Formats: sequence, structure tokens, C-alpha cells
Amino acid sequence: MTPHRLQRVARQHLEFDRLMGVAFTPVAEAAPAVVAQEPVEARVPAATAPPPTVARPARESAPRAAPPRPAPAAVGSPALSAVPLRDVAPGDRTAALAEVRARLAEDPAVAKLQPPGTKIVFGEGSPTADIAFIGEGPGETEDRLGRPFVGKAGQLLEKMVTAMGFAREEVYITNAVNFRPPGNRAPTPEETAACLPYLLEQLAVVRPKAAVLLGGSAARVMLDTKTGITRLRGSWQSIRLVDPPLKAMPTFHPAFLLRSYTVDNRKKVWSDLQAVLAETEGA
Ligand code: URA
Repeated sequence: MTPHRLQRVARQHLEFDRLMGVAFTPVAEAAPAVVAQEPVEARVPAATAPPPTVARPARESAPRAAPPRPAPAAVGSPALSAVPLRDVAPGDRTAALAEVRARLAEDPAVAKLQPPGTKIVFGEGSPTADIAFIGEGPGETEDRLGRPFVGKAGQLLEKMVTAMGFAREEVYITNAVNFRPPGNRAPTPEETAACLPYLLEQLAVVRPKAAVLLGGSAARVMLDTKTGITRLRGSWQSIRLVDPPLKAMPTFHPAFLLRSYTVDNRKKVWSDLQAVLAETEGA
């Protein structure tokens, strides 16, 4: 194990109880057979209380990845042809991403849908990240600052990333849609379709080992599925819109977690993130 990875694993052990508020190793659970209610996740209510940050004693044993669960069946096949991963040298990836961003900002199909006065919010983070986090789309704070996941949901995402042993700058964070839809509503299929080529291009440049799909919108777009996040989360999927396909772990959106900050939901998300760590650390 490299010193950097040792440090990261040590940080993980120290941080994850405190930050996630989960004082036990999650165990695998069977996927619910019936989805009673599909969470509407990505909208953060204005008066949401932040998660408790009560310090807990560090765990004594290493977090274990939950054993894999059977994948749900109903993942559809993508209609677009897959974008080949690019062989961009690490030192050239920032420029390659800037070039993708510039094309997105000039795309008339995107401009037509982008509400006047809103900003383009592009992905950010390490251009050589092992893990990419894909959310739904910018909220009010993200639109104001022109950066992804910097509002309340972003703060929780950062805690999740820290609990995994990474700094925010060490992962790649992006969204299914690059502008804030009017009225803070979920993006329409037309809006996500206009932004999708640029999201795939970001993945093609960064070439992460795995993507975490934060919530139902990201899962729907990236997996071309109508299966809800409650059913999808916790089982490995494949993003076939890039070639070769990219492993993807759907999990609950941090905004949903904020609204429904139960031990059970935190445990599920942490279990999903541990599976991502186990998958990417060996890869
Ligand atoms: N929710 C998202 O899905 N993306 C953001 O950037 C912020 C909140």
C-alpha cells in the first residue's frame, strides 16, 4: 500500500463515524421488492436542518465493503452511441476539460434551454480522479457561484467524500444538467439530453474507475432506465454511454439524505460508498 493510500485509509477510519454519524459497519440488505415511494431527492428545502456533526469515538476496525447485492433487472439500453474514452495525458486533461466546457457554453441547443440569467455550472475536481460523482443539476447556490455542489447538499457531499478519505479536490464532481432549471424543478429529458454529450465527454477525459450516481435523475440519464433510485441503489451498474463501459454505483442524493436524515438512509449511502472504495482501491 502506498503511503498516500495508507494516509487515506487512516483518515477514512477516523472520519467516517464522526462525519456520517454511523457507528457501525453496514451490513448488506436485500433490495426492497416493492418500491413504496420514489424519493424526490435533489431539491433541498430551504429550512433543512444540517446533519448532526456530533463527534463520536473512532472505529476500531476497518470499514468493510458490503457484499454485492443482486442487480435489479430493469435497466434499459442506451439510445446514443457510446463515446470512446480518450487517451489524454494527465497534464493535458485540465485543458481538455476547459475545451469541453467552452463548447458546451457555445452550444445553441443548450443556450435555447438555459434560462436567461443562469450560469453554466460545469464539473470540477481532479481531472485524473478515480471516482466521479454525478448529481442532478445546480441549485440556487450553485447557480450563484457557478460551481457544482456548493450549497447544503454539496456540504453533505463533501462530508461523504471526506469520510471516504478524499479531499473534494481529489474526486470529480459534476451534474446531469449544467444550468439551473427554472423554479428549481427537476431537469426535463430535453434538458438532460442537451447536456449529456458534454457529461460523457467529461467522463471520457477524466476516465474515472467508477461513477457514483447521486439520485434518481443522474441514474435515469446515465443508465437510461426508468427504475427508481430506491431499487437501483447499492448494486453495481454499467454506464454504456461511454466505451468501454464505466462502473456506476447509484445511491441516494445528498439532498434526499438531508431531508430524510435517518440512520437507515445514512447506513445505505455509506454502504454504497464503501462498495465504491472497495472497487476502486484495487482497480
Ligand atoms: N444538487 C445537484 O444535483 N447538483 C448540484 O450541483 C447541487 C445540488
